[in-house]
Amino acid sequence: MSDANNQMVEKYRNNFLKEVEANVEEGDWVKMCMQCGVCAGSCPMGPYWEHPPQEIFMMIRAGKREEVLTSESMWMCTSCYNCISRCPRELPITHIMHGLAHYAKRLGIAPKNQATLRFSQKFWDNLMANGRVNELKLGIALYFLDGIVQGVKNALAATGLGLGMYKAKRLNPMEILGGHSIKDRSGLKAMIKKAQEIEEARISGNSAGNSAGNSAGNK
Ligand code: SF4
Ligand code: SF4
Repeated sequence: MSDANNQMVEKYRNNFLKEVEANVEEGDWVKMCMQCGVCAGSCPMGPYWEHPPQEIFMMIRAGKREEVLTSESMWMCTSCYNCISRCPRELPITHIMHGLAHYAKRLGIAPKNQATLRFSQKFWDNLMANGRVNELKLGIALYFLDGIVQGVKNALAATGLGLGMYKAKRLNPMEILGGHSIKDRSGLKAMIKKAQEIEEARISGNSAGNSAGNSAGNK
């Protein structure tokens, strides 16, 4: 377990709902769920969920911290917004699911080989290198995620696709040399850094507020 995770276990001992409310995007909505099941019934990923949203929200309230944060379920959300448009309590379900996934990643306890997580990290690293996505390098990185042998097999299997994209001018082999960059890479990095600082400050502020609330409630 990571240090960050141990700190949170210590800080929110036996109160996973408070931890989610303080640290997860839109987490303070979880307590509003009335367990009607409309979200689970509306979700196109229904057959593939380990735990659908309704169940995740019940597990949070039941304190099942490890089961929730190490689950693959939140990573399965495709952001189709079916659930949000139908929830009678108007919970921002999609945002909570992504917020939980992001929080698990921040704590270092998200499932390591989860496909969405791996893709997201590769996409982010690729984007941040030049401020725009280098599609050739991203494709190669994804093909070779599971090693050289599997990468070569994947590349050979997709030869027709690659040639088709090249002929349609959707793939430029010269991008392998670095590709285009935005004009102000350092400006973009400064902007992202500032956004991360604001987010960290927001989370710390929420945590401080919750801690104060907890202490007051315990008196
Ligand atoms: S539709 Fe809304 S209220 Fe119903 S179970 Fe899902 S999140 Fe809860
Ligand atoms: S937004 Fe996510 S959780 Fe909601 S219905 Fe779509 S896939 Fe399911």
